[in-house]
Amino acid sequence: MTRTHHRRNCIMPPYILQKLLESGEEDIRRAALGTLVTTAQLRGGRAARAGFAGSAIAPAHGRRTIFDCRNGTFLPLAVLVRSESDPPVADASVNRAFDGLGATRDFYKEAFDRDSIDDRGMRLQAFVHRGTNYNNAFWDGQEMVFGDGDGRIFTDFTGSVDVIAHELTHGVTEHTAGLEYHGEPGALNESLSDAFGAMVKQRVLNQTAAEADWLIGPEVFTPGIDADALRSMKAPGTAFDNELFGKDPQPDHMSRFVRLPDTEEGDFGGVHINSGIPNRAFYLAAVGIGGYAWNAPGRIWYESLKASNAQSGFQDFADTTYWKAEELYGAGGTEQTAVQAAWSKVGIPISGTPAAPEAGRERVPAGLPDGVAGNEETIADFIRRIEALSSHAKALADDVGALTRK
Ligand SMILES: [Zn+2]
Repeated sequence: MTRTHHRRNCIMPPYILQKLLESGEEDIRRAALGTLVTTAQLRGGRAARAGFAGSAIAPAHGRRTIFDCRNGTFLPLAVLVRSESDPPVADASVNRAFDGLGATRDFYKEAFDRDSIDDRGMRLQAFVHRGTNYNNAFWDGQEMVFGDGDGRIFTDFTGSVDVIAHELTHGVTEHTAGLEYHGEPGALNESLSDAFGAMVKQRVLNQTAAEADWLIGPEVFTPGIDADALRSMKAPGTAFDNELFGKDPQPDHMSRFVRLPDTEEGDFGGVHINSGIPNRAFYLAAVGIGGYAWNAPGRIWYESLKASNAQSGFQDFADTTYWKAEELYGAGGTEQTAVQAAWSKVGIPISGTPAAPEAGRERVPAGLPDGVAGNEETIADFIRRIEALSSHAKALADDVGALTRK
């Protein structure tokens, strides 16, 4: 996998937006279509970043910078509105994005001693007020981008700290296991973002696993919408059931695994759908172990993420968590027993003779051959500059194309 294969990780599952295209109200259809079209246009390309000379080289320990797109879509034109040492500003979206990035960065530092997304102090950049009526938030491998929502169904996406932590965790996954974004590895990728997203929120609220609601993104809906959240980790398949976007399609057991085509319409094999299975396993493990989810359960999941690879599936990951629980907390202890019971309840019993994960094996950041690891910052920065140039060109070409069609 090369660095050009980054996939845009969006919070909004395509099945919700597709369903909204059937709405009887024109403004709802229009916002959903706009979001789907924009997301598809951007797929494969990458947003050009606002220029930061040498930002990839200087260790920044996750210093935050927030930009305001002022409803534009071309990120280099966004205006810097708040940096790490600045006090709060008048715009609540800016402050929420700033706080959400900080809560996530501090969570990874304090719970797992991880220095920002890449564990090398990567700067955290966020862009707010992207476009008009944009029903999405995404991480593009470099930065977080937030839409304001259409105001009818979805509100400003900065309002949900678990959504922010979910997106940033896609960056952590990219810099560790590098799980491919389709099929089982893709659903596992989604599930890890939900699990760490939920933990960040629980830590902000100081909730134990038993006290938490385990809902992902309950704040993204406007008050009039009859939906609890985008997903429920505790009870996958129950987050919503309404006329606007149908019933939550998530399974809660391996026997109900949903097979879908590996296309954008098929949610790349149901990555936002089948994530319900490992999501529930994490919930069950956390409640089974007890206390705060980010202690033993989070540590086991985090070490398992680091020990996984791009093709790891549900069974591989389940087995890894079982062995990590033993390595960290002892054989047959509460932790290992709870982990085993959790996976068994979702239909993924731990393999009888699993291959123990190789100790101490860590991947170099995605896309760099092992031999160039010593030079990776220079090379990665070079690749980034080339990509920024080509996405500038692509964005311009798209704009010209759009104008011509009009
Ligand atoms: Zn995601």
